[in-house]
Amino acid sequence: MQFEFATATRIVFGAGAVGQVGAYAKQFGRRALVVTGGHPQRGQKLLDNLSAAEIHPVVYSVAGEPEISTIENGVALAWKENCEFVVSFGGGSVMDAGKAIAAMMTNEGELLDYLEIVGRGRSLKKRSAPLITIPTTAGTGTEVTRNAVLASPQHKVKVSLRSPLMLARLAVIDPELTYALPPALTASTGGDALTQLIEPFVCLRANPMTDGFCTEGIQRAARSLREAVLDGQNKSAREDMAVASLLGGLALANAGLGAVHGFAGSIGGRFPAPHGAVCAALLPHVMAANIRALRERAPDSFAVRRYDRVAQLLTGNPNATADAGVEWVQKLVSDLPVPKLGAYGIGAEHVAEIVAAAANASSMKANPIVLTPDELAQTLRLAL
Ligand SMILES: [Zn+2]
Repeated sequence: MQFEFATATRIVFGAGAVGQVGAYAKQFGRRALVVTGGHPQRGQKLLDNLSAAEIHPVVYSVAGEPEISTIENGVALAWKENCEFVVSFGGGSVMDAGKAIAAMMTNEGELLDYLEIVGRGRSLKKRSAPLITIPTTAGTGTEVTRNAVLASPQHKVKVSLRSPLMLARLAVIDPELTYALPPALTASTGGDALTQLIEPFVCLRANPMTDGFCTEGIQRAARSLREAVLDGQNKSAREDMAVASLLGGLALANAGLGAVHGFAGSIGGRFPAPHGAVCAALLPHVMAANIRALRERAPDSFAVRRYDRVAQLLTGNPNATADAGVEWVQKLVSDLPVPKLGAYGIGAEHVAEIVAAAANASSMKANPIVLTPDELAQTLRLAL
């Protein structure tokens, strides 16, 4: 057995925790680039908190998914305003934008030097500028991961800037920030969280540390995802989903993912479909395909028993076997306000192209068994 584990330097969790950010942030300097989403006023409490701690916030609003220019403009603003550190406050896209900006504030050259696929793929040399991540959704776990996903529309792909040097100095997870999330967004981000707990648990690089996070997180998501969608003000459900999201991030960054995320990367680069909704739509079908392929070609694989365990954690029945887990997830996804992939314009005519790109995705390499192109195509068709 060999593994390593790396994460944010410090993780602070709790309802109202955002009110402590100023006190923690003082050590990083007096001027912060605050990266937010399309509605910066949602971060007013954070901005007030920083100001009260005598930190001057320079707001950089990022609407939609970050592209290369988004990062370049953010770095230019940080330099012009003499910012010493970065605070990312928002959903997954905002987290990733802040991560990439913080990395490019300290590393020489241009962003393309360091991007996979579309760029020169060099390794970052220097630790990022100090970064504080504060997620306002519960799903991506990207506050504790070491990569930033950027869109490159002209290449029809999403690419990652990736390095352990990008890990945040401080991640603040405050479930209160998610109370106002509408049901559809709660469902799609929560579907991502559940996927990011199941895939690392059955993947080829699973390890004892991430296993613990996954089993705890799967139970919390199983008991609270529906409830958080039905009643956004349910504090314990929101807290469970914030924990599940965090644990999923810790797990995926230190183990790996699987075919759902292999597909999601390929689809996300081609269609305007929210990542979490794509994951939720695919999850039961990928689970079923993996279980079938494992039984046929690798019946002694650890992953077969892992899928039994997933079923037991989801259903609460200690005797459940893998198929019951698939059924449980299928029922959950059909109950949630998450559309199938056809709703985003994805049709049978796109299957071959998506499968070809997904087969080469880095997430696919951790899937517990290699799925054939036919199996991948069949799986995708079921999610359309
Ligand atoms: Zn995901």
